[in-house]
Amino acid sequence: MATQTVDIAPAVSKFIARTHQLLIGGRWVAPKAGKAFDVFNPATGDVLARCADGQKEDVDAAVAAARKAFESGPWPAMTVSERGKLVWKLADLLEAHLEEFAQLESLDNGKPVAVARVADVPLSVDLLRYMAGWATKIEGDTIPISVPYAPGEKFLAYTLREPVGVVGQIIPWNFPLLMAAWKLGPALAAGCTIVLKPAEQTPLSALRLGDLVCEAGFPDGVVNVVTGFGETAGAPLAAHPGVDKVAFTGSTEVGKLIVKAAAGNLKKVSLELGGKSPNIVYADADLETAIPGAASAIFFNHGQCCCAGSRLFVEKGVFDKVVDGVAAAAKKIKLGPGLNLDTDMGPLVSSEQFERVTGFLDAGRKEGAKAVCGGGSPGGKGYFVQPTVLVDTRPEMKVVREEIFGPVVAAIPFSDPEQLVRDANNTNYGLAAAVWTRDVSKAHRVAAAIRAGTVWINCFNIFDAALPFGGYKESGWGREMGHEVLKNYTEHKAVCVRL
Ligand code: NAP
Ligand code: MG
Repeated sequence: MATQTVDIAPAVSKFIARTHQLLIGGRWVAPKAGKAFDVFNPATGDVLARCADGQKEDVDAAVAAARKAFESGPWPAMTVSERGKLVWKLADLLEAHLEEFAQLESLDNGKPVAVARVADVPLSVDLLRYMAGWATKIEGDTIPISVPYAPGEKFLAYTLREPVGVVGQIIPWNFPLLMAAWKLGPALAAGCTIVLKPAEQTPLSALRLGDLVCEAGFPDGVVNVVTGFGETAGAPLAAHPGVDKVAFTGSTEVGKLIVKAAAGNLKKVSLELGGKSPNIVYADADLETAIPGAASAIFFNHGQCCCAGSRLFVEKGVFDKVVDGVAAAAKKIKLGPGLNLDTDMGPLVSSEQFERVTGFLDAGRKEGAKAVCGGGSPGGKGYFVQPTVLVDTRPEMKVVREEIFGPVVAAIPFSDPEQLVRDANNTNYGLAAAVWTRDVSKAHRVAAAIRAGTVWINCFNIFDAALPFGGYKESGWGREMGHEVLKNYTEHKAVCVRL
């Protein structure tokens, strides 16, 4: 059967070809230094678009616009209901352009368009709607107080949750649109104003979202988008004295740089960083769901997930069966351009990421790990890497310790249940984990013992706008999603009145 390829919508071609600028103060403007950089189609390695290479002076202008919008003009005067309606309208517009965003995401990031249609775009819409609902529900408390040194006096004390102010948001390339939605939604619901810096590899959906922000009717300067590189646009945003809070998703390494940059004015920081998530399959699991579950835990989004189940711990009695099953699933995965409808897995996002992941595979081989399937690139154009299952690993190997961020899983047998928990927790990361078993008590016991922000039981990669997500240890600070994320974007003020 001939491969069916999605015809690129005229609106998508037109958007990609336009002269991309920066969204500052409600207008698309050229970067002050007039520089641009190439954005690549990872399925071919060809240039897809050119985007504005924002520099410190552009970040300064965007922060000034965000400050102005935060302090004066319509945004701070709006009712919370009006604010919520705007966020809901953005969700409606995004939904109306679902196919366009799915195609953009596929072209820019490499992921299958079929996946972007059912995951990236709908999840972004849903998140925005969930956060739109919170705009009217961000409440303080009334608190009975005693004040022992003021006998006989009466006080009324209450708290207010106020927007934290101007927020810098720096996002990665693995889910470009969804990460923009995760960041914008709660910050807007809380009443903040924003400077968003998308990843240099995948700026297109954030730019198109900028169009929709304008169309939705957000006041000028509430959302600003500055494209550019981490060192020249991200770093000045993280260090900016006019920014009250920085929210970052990306590598732990850059997360530490963000913390240092934020120290200048002690801006608030939230971080969603890397992971090396343990995925634990017990012999008493329903292997019919655990095996495909373990495959999808690592191969979804080409392994470019911060929570990817990259350390697969399998109880000894079923180790061979599970490894063979995951390897069989890996071999069935069809690699191809994201726009082909029969593609299961697209290319990695960039040539750097391709080098990085194949470098890990080489290191694993040198240290004695064995690839049961895959193990490298299939060759040809584009940044494709075969889904790979490694065995014969040791805990100190690079492939077991470090985040690979590619379709590579290390399968590790276990027998002693207590040692298993120690091994699962033997990582600097603590983002997510999963347990597959039919034993309810064991499932909850292990869930409690794992030091990670999310534990899935008999499932993996289940996300919902209402469920907080974030990391223990070096996987981050704070939580995304749920009402918990609103804490990232609000200050808590105590007001005390003598009656
Ligand atoms: P990264 O450098 O951490 O990129 C994330 C974001 O931070 C991008 O917008 C990036 O901009 C920006 N950035 C880079 N250096 C910065 C700096 N000094 N100050 C402020 N912002 C800065 O991640 P990457 O290099 O794209 O990927 C490297 C590895 O990070 C991956 O292999 C993976 O292990 C991990 N990663 C994790 C996640 C996650 O969700 N946890 C996501 C992506 C990557 P530019 O892209 O424009 O440089
Ligand atoms: Mg790209």
